[in-house]
Amino acid sequence: MVAVSAHRDPCIGTVVVMGVEPTTFQRVAARLDGVLRWDEWGDEELSRTTVPEGLLQSDAVLLGSALSDPVAMAQRVCRVDKTIPVVILVGAERVAQLQRTIMFSPSLGSEVKPWSLSELDELPGALRRAVERRQQRSSYLHTIQSAQLHLGKLSLFQPEVTHYLDRLLDRLPVGVLTVDNRGAILSMSRRAEAILGTAEPESLGVSVASFFPSFEHDRLMGCLSVDARTEPRPPLVFEVTADRCKPCHVEATVAPLAYHAGQRGAMLILQDVTERVHAERERTRAELDLRSHVKVLNAFLQITSAQESTFEAKVHQLLEFVCSQLNLPFGLLTQVDGETLRIVDAVSPDNVVEPRSAIALSCSYCESTLRLEDPLSIEFADASKAGDVPHIAGWRIESYLGARIVVRGEVFGTIVFAGDASREVPFTSSERETLKLMAQWIGGQLERQRNEARMRILSSALEQAADSVAITDREGSILHVNPAYERLTGYSKDEVIGRKMSILRSGVHDEAFYRELWSGIKRGEVFRGVLINRRRDGNTYHEDKTITSLRDAAGEITHFVSTGHDVSERCRAEESARRHQAEMAHVARLSTLGEMTSGLAHELTQPLCAITTYAQTCLRIANDDRIDPERLRYGLQQVIKQAELGGAIFMRLRKFGRKSETVFRPTAVHDVIREAASLISADLAQSEVTLKLDDGSWCPKVRVDPIQIEQVILNLVRNSLDAMSVVNPPDRKLIIQVAPAEAEQVKVSIIDQGRGCPPELEEKLFQPFFTTKPNGLGIGLSISQTIIEAHSGRLWLEANSSKGATFSFTLPMC
Ligand code: ADP
Repeated sequence: MVAVSAHRDPCIGTVVVMGVEPTTFQRVAARLDGVLRWDEWGDEELSRTTVPEGLLQSDAVLLGSALSDPVAMAQRVCRVDKTIPVVILVGAERVAQLQRTIMFSPSLGSEVKPWSLSELDELPGALRRAVERRQQRSSYLHTIQSAQLHLGKLSLFQPEVTHYLDRLLDRLPVGVLTVDNRGAILSMSRRAEAILGTAEPESLGVSVASFFPSFEHDRLMGCLSVDARTEPRPPLVFEVTADRCKPCHVEATVAPLAYHAGQRGAMLILQDVTERVHAERERTRAELDLRSHVKVLNAFLQITSAQESTFEAKVHQLLEFVCSQLNLPFGLLTQVDGETLRIVDAVSPDNVVEPRSAIALSCSYCESTLRLEDPLSIEFADASKAGDVPHIAGWRIESYLGARIVVRGEVFGTIVFAGDASREVPFTSSERETLKLMAQWIGGQLERQRNEARMRILSSALEQAADSVAITDREGSILHVNPAYERLTGYSKDEVIGRKMSILRSGVHDEAFYRELWSGIKRGEVFRGVLINRRRDGNTYHEDKTITSLRDAAGEITHFVSTGHDVSERCRAEESARRHQAEMAHVARLSTLGEMTSGLAHELTQPLCAITTYAQTCLRIANDDRIDPERLRYGLQQVIKQAELGGAIFMRLRKFGRKSETVFRPTAVHDVIREAASLISADLAQSEVTLKLDDGSWCPKVRVDPIQIEQVILNLVRNSLDAMSVVNPPDRKLIIQVAPAEAEQVKVSIIDQGRGCPPELEEKLFQPFFTTKPNGLGIGLSISQTIIEAHSGRLWLEANSSKGATFSFTLPMC
């Protein structure tokens, strides 16, 4: 035993300390330095059979968390003295549990308290108060004992002694009164007056029993019949009638008295224990409440977890069970339906409340219940407002316990228990909690039912859908396919479940294509596009596909949903239209070339003539005796140059007239314009037209098939030449301009100074076979428009007057 004594006296008391962790102890002791004395004990001190002496002299016991069974320790302390304050230190999470253990342990006194280690700062104060309380109590007892001793020794007739005793008794916190052997009051202290709600002068000679309710009389008189030979009796608790509004309780200790006259009587020491009695009652009530709560929860669990019952049957069972538990005749499950509550299920006397019937919202407490998050309880309806008291099926509702039911965040209805008689005991917190739990369970079940119904609809929609649907996990393994998928691919559900989506790959798209597709959808992007896939029978088909990702509640992608339908027919039609257009464009190109023949012939004549001239000159030099090799070389070089010039013209013509596949590639707009201009240069010269090309300061690139765009420019330029044939040669000016257009596009404009187009014909210009020329085909503009639209651009007549026309087209930049 180690005594850690305080340095400064006076100490107010001693605390026995067991199993308290050193740092915790230091924290508490530091704040009580000099106020309390500490006795540190080991476990073995209390394990002994004899009562440790130190315990009887100590004023409080502090049990620490290092003890294996602090409750057992507390019980041993209480066996020695139930009035010693015992504080058990535990972690915050165990306080509630320990409180319950203490509450239900009969061997532990009311002075045993759990204390959370997280509230150590308040502990020194509490310990100090506990010690002071105990010491005060023992000082009272001591005073009473010495007063009794004096009474025995001193003559009652000595006035000083009487005075001394009166003053002593008046200062006591307990009431003291003396009665004769019939119970008539002989004297009473001030505190006794206060406890019994009377004054000594008017109470002398009055039976003490008159201050107690009649049901206490026998017990009281029995307790007063003591004499010196009787064993001291333990104090008894009585109800007194001093305060008529609320019951008061006193603890009465009776001691025998013998007077000089030989008359016998008793001294009654009364202590107001109303608070203690209330606390004990509250403890008993809490215990009962807890027991019934456990019983209800057990039943609730049994009913709700019954496998074979339907939800409806479970609800009905719950309504019946709670009605019997609360002793209330009505139990209702309702659903809000506009201004009324529709009865979903009901338990009622003689089934007066029928399911599917309706009650007005305004005439029940449910209107308020729906607004409240917590259950609404009413123990008795206000009788003064008779007209307002709600009714159910003609029954006046006096007591009510109801909670709202919420499904998917929206108020669904209520669960209500009601009765026509007011309730003496208020609804307990555990009854309210049970109802709340029940409402939550019903809300959860209804939500599940709704989800299941929605899932059924969704899955049947999935099964019926005309589009093929496949659901895969994150890795692309197929989890589910619908019948449309089976029809489209030729694979049955059983064949594909667990396999990868890649079984449909046809080999048309390369690895890079699929890599990009997967990385996109794994980022959460939606894939939309046409895939060429292969059926089970080996044939390929075009599928217009959409792949979307599904995410879980945390936002993580867990699945992919692929939907699609066969667009092979459409693709074939588009392909044939494309081919047809290409044919048309080719024909148009040939026709353009045909129209350009004379100009081209002229253009080719020039190098051919030059070749002839240079060749003749070289021949002459060769025939000369004095061959001048320098001149001969120059002549031959010119022959080669002119031949190359002619060859280039042929190459250009061949390229333009060739029937080739459409090839889109990034191309500088100016290169295309220049190539077209060289093809038409002979025609321009013949038509005496001056061409002004864009200066090329802004030279964007576009993703095009250059031959097709050349064709468009040639068509437009040729139309301009035709339109300018009527104006004077000096005014025949043609401009090709390049400018930026909105949405990352390039605008190319062909501006002429021709006769323009009559306004009333403007609308028809782009119609196929519309022409105003005697030998025109009327396909130039319509083919040009098709080509430009295939390049995601637009061709239009931008300006038109009798002084000229401007045709413009746009192309997206790359
Ligand atoms: P074609 O040149 O064979 O007539 P197009 O489709 O190229 O066929 O042109 C249709 C019509 O549009 C022409 O006949 C002409 O009336 C009108 N047109 C086209 N370009 C111009 C222009 N620059 N100025 C005036 N009219 C034009």
